[in-house]
Amino acid sequence: MSEKFSRRDFLKLSAMLPMVKVVPALEPVLEAGTDKKNTLVIVFDAWSAYHLPVYGYPRTTTPYLSSMLDNAIVYHNHISAANFTTPGTASLLTGTYSWTHRAFNHDAPAQSVSGHNIFHAFGSQYHRVGYSHNPLAAHIIHRFMDDLETYIPTQDLYLTKLWTDNLFPNDSDIAVLSNFITFEQQNNWNSLFLSEIYKLIIFRKREAAAAAYKDEFPNGPPFITRNNYYVLETGIDWLIDNLQNLPQPFVAYFHFLPPHQPYKPPVQFDGRFEDDGREFPQKPFHVLAGSDQDEKTLQRRQQYDEYIPYVDEEFHRLFTSLGDSPLAENTRLVLTSDHGEMFERGLIGHTTPLLFEPVVRVPLMIFDPGHKGRVDVTSRTSSLDLLPTLLHLNNEPVPEWVEGQVLPPFNDQPVDEERQIYSVQAKDTPKFAPIETASISLYQGPYKLTYYFGYDKLAGEELFELYHMEDDPEELDNLYTSLPEIAASMTETLQAKLAEVNEPYR
Ligand SMILES: [Zn+2]
Repeated sequence: MSEKFSRRDFLKLSAMLPMVKVVPALEPVLEAGTDKKNTLVIVFDAWSAYHLPVYGYPRTTTPYLSSMLDNAIVYHNHISAANFTTPGTASLLTGTYSWTHRAFNHDAPAQSVSGHNIFHAFGSQYHRVGYSHNPLAAHIIHRFMDDLETYIPTQDLYLTKLWTDNLFPNDSDIAVLSNFITFEQQNNWNSLFLSEIYKLIIFRKREAAAAAYKDEFPNGPPFITRNNYYVLETGIDWLIDNLQNLPQPFVAYFHFLPPHQPYKPPVQFDGRFEDDGREFPQKPFHVLAGSDQDEKTLQRRQQYDEYIPYVDEEFHRLFTSLGDSPLAENTRLVLTSDHGEMFERGLIGHTTPLLFEPVVRVPLMIFDPGHKGRVDVTSRTSSLDLLPTLLHLNNEPVPEWVEGQVLPPFNDQPVDEERQIYSVQAKDTPKFAPIETASISLYQGPYKLTYYFGYDKLAGEELFELYHMEDDPEELDNLYTSLPEIAASMTETLQAKLAEVNEPYR
């Protein structure tokens, strides 16, 4: 029997969320702790909030997580400041928008603001650790190397260490990144950089590693660059084996790739949602999207949904292990993502000018040893807010360069429901030039305005979309012309902001 999943069902599901407790403006504030706790931030790359049952998704993608939230602070409306890894991670780690940190495309934040990061803000009284599976995020962490006590090279938690370490012993991650950008993204293996012999060695090592995992991963083990594979177990094992031995207090940032594409569900989840009859809201193709047809989109969505339980299972293993260790008493655990993923409007993935909710709304959950009971925060929050919140919770000063705010329920100021929050995609912008081709969303109150400009496909036109996020969470009814006053006011706010951030580069 076909089970149609409509927008109405989505709203109904959202309304039925158990124990949802809206945090009103005058709710008593949760006090920051008095001692210096450890902070562990876990990022799972490209993990859209749309695909979690705790936020109303109908597929059971995270059965473990759903049972682990009794003492969690769960953020239901958390917006990443960008829609792909580099600016998304940079905003998370710096508490600033991309027009400030300038990591618009694949480069790291500007040198001039390299001290503006979470590790520097915590300071050297903490043992600071950074790791990323994803070479783009690793490049950003690498930029903050002066503020880290322990930096773990990307390949250390892959299945095999390959050629880059031998060629560039001191800068293997830069080599991995160059490899990733130059060869992988352009699908070009014919570069002079790699001789035929090197290619052969790489492929042999990689295929030997894959063969060892063929029973566990029927579609092959996960990878991001073509020259290596990884399994999430390696990274989780590292944390279980090593966290307890780190000097305390520590601040650790671990950025893992799943459920980033290619989606490679382990055997126990592969096919789990096949023929479950789920249908999803039909949305029109967007002028700035691709042209992936519905059948392919549904199939890829299913594979993504079958890959998420792998994240769930491994995070549960880490959570349980930490809970049974002495770290349970003094370690604050944060679970989030750098951006989302989309399966609609002709687009699969997150390489896009679009800023619809599936690609920018991400999970955020905070597990704080000093806090008992579940709190559900439904106010809109930004990925910029995590940095000041984590500092505040350890009674560390929040630097003036931070553009985010301390999150509810930890903020002693009332929640400002009219707060302006942005999400930005400006990949075509040179590092020190004005933003002239971009997508910018402004959220304020119940509304979200997205401004698309400068793209060739728009042929000199600008595109504005205005959605009422409570009445129309699927963003199907563009109100830009039917609500002219709100449209004009938000457009003025957004364009004034754009002029302000462009001014130093004119
Ligand atoms: Zn990413």
